[in-house]
Amino acid sequence: MIGRSAADGPRLLVGSHSESQNHAGWLDGALGVIYGLEVARAIHETPDGAGLAVDVVSFADEEGHYGAFLGSRSLCGLLDDAEIGRLVDRSDGTPLRAALERAGFAGRPREQIAPARYKGFLEAHIEQGDYLESSNLSLGIVTSIVAIWQYRIRFEGEQNHAGTTRMTARKDAGLALVRFADAIDRRFPEVAGERTVWTTGRITLDPGAPSIIPGRAEMLFQFRDADPDRLTLLEQTLEQLVQGADAAGPCRCRLEVISRSEPKIMDPRFQDALKTAAERHAPGRHTRMPSAAGHDAQILAQRVPAGMLFVPSIGGISHHWREDTREEDIVLGCQVMATAAVTILRS
Ligand SMILES: [Zn+2]
Repeated sequence: MIGRSAADGPRLLVGSHSESQNHAGWLDGALGVIYGLEVARAIHETPDGAGLAVDVVSFADEEGHYGAFLGSRSLCGLLDDAEIGRLVDRSDGTPLRAALERAGFAGRPREQIAPARYKGFLEAHIEQGDYLESSNLSLGIVTSIVAIWQYRIRFEGEQNHAGTTRMTARKDAGLALVRFADAIDRRFPEVAGERTVWTTGRITLDPGAPSIIPGRAEMLFQFRDADPDRLTLLEQTLEQLVQGADAAGPCRCRLEVISRSEPKIMDPRFQDALKTAAERHAPGRHTRMPSAAGHDAQILAQRVPAGMLFVPSIGGISHHWREDTREEDIVLGCQVMATAAVTILRS
């Protein structure tokens, strides 16, 4: 959903997404959309804002109920019809085409961004972590959105009887996997950056029965960082660990790359505009920081200059109904967005 300003001056797109995860909170996404409306209205009502145009956007399905970043990817020409035809709601299996039809969008042409029309895109969002709160800060100016590198690591041993196979004769793929996950956790801190994070998100044991020694095991593993050199170092370290585990036996260990995204740098001029605005409204209570989560701004950044502002999440909680932000931080963030929007539109 896009709201267009009637002004004919330079144009800025401001917004975020309007849906969230199931049973999640009230600010993830929606905060940035409401900021967009408020910034557009404030600039329209102020004599200072004469001629400046703020368009407001509310993207759908940033969270991946059907795909991921569907609204922003569609606007940016990064979502083709074939993919739309394949996607289904992960909760109830409804095809995306059926959902679009039910919403009255069947057959309607999709909006495409015209990059030449825009100075860029600004998105505000809750931090969803506890960095700002634990640092006693009210505002985060996003420098980049981290890359996510994902892997499948497979272990191959020997499936056998859990009662009759002597401990010394076993090739237990499940045990090899658990030891490997532990090895990552001991080795990675030595090569990780200050904000590197890594996660084993899924473990599968095959055949997965209490009386059978697993013959095969598989783990899905990811790490995130904003620095390309750091990402390469982490991958090299993972490769070394896999080679070491494979050589040590008794199980075979194999590494497969699933995906490697690139960090998306936020426009330096937009960062500066947000920083100057933050210093004006909240001297000393702001910082530059990378985003550890994905956002629509990383999609828009592929078409137009993009910038992002974070406000603190109480207790670092998000994707949960307890998600919240102090009211004064919500107000402050919107004031900073409005000031930065005017600076960018006048530049
Ligand atoms: Zn979000």
